Formats: sequence, structure tokens, C-alpha cells
Amino acid sequence: MSDARYPRHASRPRRALSVALPIGLAVTALGAMWALADVPAPVDASVPPVPAAAAQLPGVHVAAVPAADPCAESAVADAIAAGDDEAVIAAFGGGAAFRDAVVVGNAPCISLMDPARIWVVVNKTHELNPTDYVPVDLIESPIQQTTSSRMIHQGAAAALGDMAADLERSGSGVLGMNNAYRSYLLQVSNYTGLVSAEGQRTADLGSARPGFSEHQTGLAVDVVACSRGCGEIANFGGTPESDWVAAHAWEYGFVVRYEAGATPTTGYEPEPWHLRYIGPALAETYHEGGYRTLEEFFGLPAAPDYAH
Ligand SMILES: [Zn+2]
Repeated sequence: MSDARYPRHASRPRRALSVALPIGLAVTALGAMWALADVPAPVDASVPPVPAAAAQLPGVHVAAVPAADPCAESAVADAIAAGDDEAVIAAFGGGAAFRDAVVVGNAPCISLMDPARIWVVVNKTHELNPTDYVPVDLIESPIQQTTSSRMIHQGAAAALGDMAADLERSGSGVLGMNNAYRSYLLQVSNYTGLVSAEGQRTADLGSARPGFSEHQTGLAVDVVACSRGCGEIANFGGTPESDWVAAHAWEYGFVVRYEAGATPTTGYEPEPWHLRYIGPALAETYHEGGYRTLEEFFGLPAAPDYAH
């Protein structure tokens, strides 16, 4: 179950000082350094002068302290411009610091509405913008597929391949993919079909309206169990593959998006097969924090239903 990109127990590279500090504490620490820097130099020449800049304090690396305005940091701006989402999160000081900054409103350069970013939130109150958004970084899934919807976000694809390989090595069965990216027009077809078959109320509990589906970002993937021929998504829950995925998906950057008991927040019935890629840094923070929904994780209101 090892993940070469992100070993579960290995210490990952972190920025040196206080990356785990809440923003408030980090700001306090930075303020304290500024105060130190303002102390007049001592008269006694045998006493080392107080450094003029906090950067010269022994053991202190100013660049490692999350700034009061993380978005003003060049590392953050550069990573955003480069489209490197994991580097953006690292520049914030890691998954927890990133989440904290977003939740307290200290990350104006981070939009949870940007469908090209791994932190996008798509739900019944967060419509995709534009509604007919098409990702630019789709590739074909590296694992076996059971439908013609084979395309998936590039980063999610690599993680899915790693996860499926480790699942199989663990002896927990074989993972397949039902679908990942679904275009706006495909969602129109799927949703319309469900409404005519089940009625709108039931359809809304199991399928997103066009323009409101995570699948349109390429970051969501529906997986199936394939140990004795691939099953349907509805039969995934309760399989060894499902149990393994529920326990380990976060190690690869995925979360189970619609968990049992979370319908009042997500607006969807439980879907143990529907995984959402948010990247390893955020998924680890999500897992360690015991979050059940992306809405809770980012401090957003519940989204049980559409506005109209
Ligand atoms: Zn799905």
C-alpha cells in the first residue's frame, strides 16, 4: 500500500518553522520578531547586537512563517501562476495552514469556485462557472473502465493508478473505473433520463443537475469492484474493495465525497463509489481532522438543495 509519491509514515518536506501553527499564532510570532528587531542595540560591545532583521535571529527562518497575507507571498503567487496546486498548498505552509487560511477568509487568491483547481467545491449551491466548463488536462484513465467515459484529470489519474495497484497488492480485490469526467451535455442526458425514470425528487438525491456535477471537473471518479468481473457502482459498497478504499483513499489524495449520514450537508444519498480528488496534502488534513464533507472542511454552509 505504499505510495512512492507520498509515503504514509515518512515525514514530508515542510517549510522549516511553525508550518503547523494556526495563522493567528504565526502572525503573533511574526509580530514578536518585528518587536525584537526594534530593540535598541545593547551598549556593552561584548554582548552580540540584536539583529536588525528577524531573518538573522538564531534558528529563525522568516520565510518559513506563514505571512499575515499568504497571497502576498511570491511563492504562493508563482505557484498559482504556474497552475501547480500542490505547490500552492505547500507555499501556504501545508494542507492545514491552507485550509485554515481559507476558512478564516485570509486567502483571497484562492477561489473555491475555480473548477480548474483541486480545491474547487461543486455542490447544489456551487454551480460550475462557466456552466459548460471543460477541463484542459484530461487524460485516459490508467485502470480498466466499464463505460466509455474514460477521461479523468491528469493528477487524479496518476493517483487512481497508484491506489488501484496498491489495493490489488493488498489482496483486497481489483479496482475498476465506471466513469470520471462527464461533459455538461452527457450530464444533461444522464439527469434527464433519471428524472423521467424516477421523478425529479429522487433523481436529485442521486444525480447532479447539469452544471452542478463534480464529474464535469474531471476530479470525481466512480469506482467499481472487479475481482470477479466488474460490478455496478451500486454494488460497490460492502465489497473488500470498498472497505479498502474507505480506509486508504485519502493516502492518494481522494475523499469519499458522499458518506453515510452526510445527506443533510451534501444533498446526496451515500455513494461509497464516488471519490473526489483533492490532492494528497488536503486529503491528509481532511482525514486527520475527521471531516465528513468538503463543505465542513472549508467551513461552507450545507448544500442540501438547489436554490431554485
Ligand atoms: Zn460519481
